Amino acid sequence: MQLQTVLHRRFQGERGTQFVYVATSAAILGFDAPTAAVVADFAQDGGRDDEAWLADQPERDKAASTLNDLIDLGVVRPVGEAAAPRAQLPPMPFPLATLVLNVTNKCNLSCTYCYEYGEDRLTAGDGSKGTGKPKMDDDTARQSIDFLLRSCGDRPQVSITFFGGETLLNFPAIKAATEYAEEQAKAKKKRVHYSLTTNATLLTDEVVDFLTRHRFGITISIDGAQQDQDRHRTFQKGVGSFDVIAPRIRHLLATNKERKGRSIGARVTLTAGASPAPATYRFLTQELGFDEVGFAPVTAGLGREYALGEKGYEKLLREFGELAEDYVAAALRNETHGFANLGDLLRELHQGVNKAHPCGAGLGLLGVSTEGELGLCHRFVESKSHAVGNVTQGIDESVRTAFLTQAHIDQKTDCTQCFARPLCAGGCYHEAHVRYGDATVANLHYCEWIRGFVDLGLRTYGRILEANPKFFARFEQS
Ligand code: SF4
Ligand code: SF4
Repeated sequence: MQLQTVLHRRFQGERGTQFVYVATSAAILGFDAPTAAVVADFAQDGGRDDEAWLADQPERDKAASTLNDLIDLGVVRPVGEAAAPRAQLPPMPFPLATLVLNVTNKCNLSCTYCYEYGEDRLTAGDGSKGTGKPKMDDDTARQSIDFLLRSCGDRPQVSITFFGGETLLNFPAIKAATEYAEEQAKAKKKRVHYSLTTNATLLTDEVVDFLTRHRFGITISIDGAQQDQDRHRTFQKGVGSFDVIAPRIRHLLATNKERKGRSIGARVTLTAGASPAPATYRFLTQELGFDEVGFAPVTAGLGREYALGEKGYEKLLREFGELAEDYVAAALRNETHGFANLGDLLRELHQGVNKAHPCGAGLGLLGVSTEGELGLCHRFVESKSHAVGNVTQGIDESVRTAFLTQAHIDQKTDCTQCFARPLCAGGCYHEAHVRYGDATVANLHYCEWIRGFVDLGLRTYGRILEANPKFFARFEQS
């Protein structure tokens, strides 16, 4: 019989273990050198005939047993064998876990690269004016909470995320929604987790007190030290924002620490000409005191001088490699490291995440516009496409199901041979919607970057697994 390995990625640990990441099951398997050699034999194009292969083996019984083990593990399969069918969708209507409330579509900064309202805006709005009603009113905020609590099925916990524009421009709606959710969740015996993203310009003492008292998960959009922050993140008159936000962030972090709040993260938009990621990471964690830092390459139209370009992505991967060294060193001391991109990836690898859809948008997560319209996520409510109902009348289940069926990874034939598929699943719907005019297609413009980063994650995972496997226990708790 002709046998061949399934889609996989091989990589090596530092202590000789050969690992195989099996893309069909998202399992990471560690093998000794002889077993790894069998995997390599059957990985060749067109596969191998098992009888012919066995006839060449000096220890036939041992080789046959190894081959059978690999078949049992799903690493080697008959050529042309149809893959086991998998569910297109979980039972619908799928209970909601997270609702993202766009409490305003206005912003008090004018970041050059802003995909929402800047030169490369993805929405159909009018620059920083945004689209639709500028602020969500308190009634819509409360109706959104009612909608979430009646759409979450038996889940014991739900999440409410506040987003903008600049989210804190509508602090009254955040307060109204949080206080109402607290009361309603208590009556329904549910737990609620709150989170928010902000540019930190409006973190007054009152806001900081409120957010830390309600144990918000907080993400601050900041690009690094003064020169990086002020290059693109400016007020409307072009003045940099660093001097305004730095003391506010310090106050937030100190109060949060005192109250033993959730970890607070920085989200850095990476542009051409920015400081190296490791330097920015050190500044944000050591000088400002952030718990975590996540980096996102800028979303930019072709030809923008701040776009990263091919060389920029290569450089970034090397810089992520440097941060990964620090991550491994911390993991070997059994300490948490705040490089969020890598931490999230290692968590997914450890949990064997195998995505049928790239993210929860439309499934466990929906976005709400300032007017109470429901979209696949917070990005879609601003661009006014892929509407899936509203908070008073509920979800249009036929539109939701049709979208998710079309967006399933099995429909993305371009991704069939990609080992990163269990983690990427074609990438962000909104980016695909903007780039290709179709939210359900794969984002083929960033495959190399994704695969490079997943490779880095796999190598890092293998190194930590060999030297300190108990480090991963922290990823088993949630
Ligand atoms: S979009 Fe690219 S990287 Fe992502 S799964 Fe598809 S082929 Fe792989
Ligand atoms: S569609 Fe894109 S922006 Fe929306 S939740 Fe998914 S990954 Fe995020």
